[in-house]
Amino acid sequence: MTDHRLRFDTTLRFLKGVGPRRGEALQSQGLESVEDLLYVLPFRYEDRRSFARVDDLRVGGPETTLDVVVVSSRIIPTRRRGFSVFEAHLEDGSGRVRAVWYNQPFLERLFVEGRRAVVFGNAAENRYGSGLVLENPDYEFLEDADAEGVHTGRIVPVYRKLAELSSRAQRSLLHRSLSEVESGTFPQTVPEDVLGRVGLLDRLEALRQTHFPPPDSSLEALHERRTVAQRSLAFEEIFLLQLALAKRRNSVRVAERGISYDLTDALRTRLGKLLPFKLTPAQKRVLKEIGDDLRSDHSMNRLLQGDVGCGKTIVALLSLLVAVENGYQGALMAPTEILAEQHYRTIGKLLSDRGADYRVDILTGSLRAAARREVLGRVASGRTQVLIGTHALFERGVQYSNLGLVVVDEQHRFGVLQRAALTSKGPRPDVLVMTATPIPRSMALTFYGDLDLSIIDELPPGRTPVKTVVRWERERARVYRGVAREVAGGRQVYVVVPLVEETLRSDLKAATTLAEQLRTEVFPDLAVGLVHGRMKGADKDRVMQEFAAGKIQILVATTVIEVGVDVPNATVMVVEHAERFGLSQLHQLRGRVGRGAGRSYCVLMVADGAVSAQGYDRLAIMERTHDGFRIAEKDLELRGPGVVFGTQQHGLSDLQFLAVVLSDPQMLETARAEARALVTSGEDGADRASRILNALRPAWKRRLDLARVG
Ligand code: ADP
Ligand code: MG
Repeated sequence: MTDHRLRFDTTLRFLKGVGPRRGEALQSQGLESVEDLLYVLPFRYEDRRSFARVDDLRVGGPETTLDVVVVSSRIIPTRRRGFSVFEAHLEDGSGRVRAVWYNQPFLERLFVEGRRAVVFGNAAENRYGSGLVLENPDYEFLEDADAEGVHTGRIVPVYRKLAELSSRAQRSLLHRSLSEVESGTFPQTVPEDVLGRVGLLDRLEALRQTHFPPPDSSLEALHERRTVAQRSLAFEEIFLLQLALAKRRNSVRVAERGISYDLTDALRTRLGKLLPFKLTPAQKRVLKEIGDDLRSDHSMNRLLQGDVGCGKTIVALLSLLVAVENGYQGALMAPTEILAEQHYRTIGKLLSDRGADYRVDILTGSLRAAARREVLGRVASGRTQVLIGTHALFERGVQYSNLGLVVVDEQHRFGVLQRAALTSKGPRPDVLVMTATPIPRSMALTFYGDLDLSIIDELPPGRTPVKTVVRWERERARVYRGVAREVAGGRQVYVVVPLVEETLRSDLKAATTLAEQLRTEVFPDLAVGLVHGRMKGADKDRVMQEFAAGKIQILVATTVIEVGVDVPNATVMVVEHAERFGLSQLHQLRGRVGRGAGRSYCVLMVADGAVSAQGYDRLAIMERTHDGFRIAEKDLELRGPGVVFGTQQHGLSDLQFLAVVLSDPQMLETARAEARALVTSGEDGADRASRILNALRPAWKRRLDLARVG
């Protein structure tokens, strides 16, 4: 056994108390080295600091630590096979107490008469005699007065069961590892100068104090994970993530030298003339941020966030036209054909209204072969200046003559953006990703730290917020009367049915049944349409177009309409089973109405008894709040980052300190700033970052690899 000096990378199997079998069990849980084990942190702590006296023990009292001497002990014979009881009588100056342990006969060798022990546990009524009994108390022997207690006489860590290791065994193992491991064998994570600036502990000290808190620690702070030691580990975690993101960002910006566009005053003036309205201050601000990127020779890799209706399209268009005016092509990618066509129409109309002469084309999967050939020809020859479409834009066979800027709308629908696929299409095209799903800044920095962030946080003037109400099933008749009134006034209505999974038959059936019922029973005189995710693209488009043209008055839809569909005449949205949606999702849905001049309504239907009072309050937030960022924050608070952002998918589900980081924006900003500074510092900043990241244990590397987002 090589237990003498421990290294951070010593295989767990070689630790005393582990051995081959446990070693294998630990390995199957992804724990290979001492370092891995040290990062399995306590999930709670117990305060065993203060000693009580035997005569203080009470049935039902708190768990208590006693400093006692063994008076006598024995194994009590039992009739049951394989069942043993070990009993010890323990005594301090104040009295005597009986303690029993089940199935731990080896204790006979430990609890020998006259030996000093510290025990920790609850007192119960002694069923086999007078007085009290301690059942299965935790114990420890302190041979000399100043030996440091591991399991008693301190705040002790409590662990989740790990590969057959009890919390106690794990505690012993960790205590031994922490005191024996040589600090010099730890590869550095957070550089020393950074630690100095942020005033945090180096990793080994942070781990020591997190597992075995110093005597004056606050239990409450420990449980809230805000001791200096825990904050040091939190900082380390987020710093490493930010370092990986910063390195990626840097390689995009620097290694891939980008295009530097001219953005002259003359061009600004010319583009300004295209505007059908005055830009909001927020739109101006983000255009400046984008403009700065475009002028610099770094590649742009920017995320533009803004609530539904805040006016991202015009920002995208102006950016694309800067590229076009510099002799490059621009591409605008939408998540669905419906949206691509809508962008194509909106942009075409805007340009022709202003007499601007740009060649804009559309490319979608449903384009007929001949038309497609023509478009591809124009794109390849450079005649097409702006190409709008779905992901068909980046399929093989699409050759651009000179692609300069790519705008991706609603990237959330795509999941991970295949940047490689984009960059293979041009020299170094700049990329602007737009999303109408506001993400709290903390979250955005965690997940999209390699992107630069622009935020439009105001709506154009003159919008009336969508009046939102929560209604119970029993109020349905009243809701339908409201619907009838709006339709009589010439308006149109969405009825949204949750489709948890596109493939779930029962949900599909619910949508179909509801549409049928509305068509035949409730509104026999109205045109009711149905659109859902399993319909063919062409069928879906036909229905949507009929709705847009006003031929359908009530459209029953699964959440396929969630993204970007623009029918200004639709003024009512009824959401069935609203309780099944996240707040951010409801907010997205609600954005489909309130796009025209008329007053709009959003009705959140809840089956009677389907939600608790809390669930109702959650939905009621929608009645009061119309700010997407605030709603996103509420959503995050109520449902947690995992549910809201699918951290599983992002591979960040095992960030141990995600919650700490999200609630401490300052730490996040600092970690990000330090990581970016390190990567860009001096000649070898990027190399230093690489060395740090390369030396991380495999579990960390896998995690950072998965964190490829944006
Ligand atoms: P989104 O950010 O959801 O894509 P759009 O770009 O579709 O929003 O804009 C929503 C509507 O607001 C459009 O009809 C657009 O013409 C209009 N709009 C955008 N910016 C302004 C502005 N500054 N002033 C007035 N109307 C605007
Ligand atoms: Mg949009």
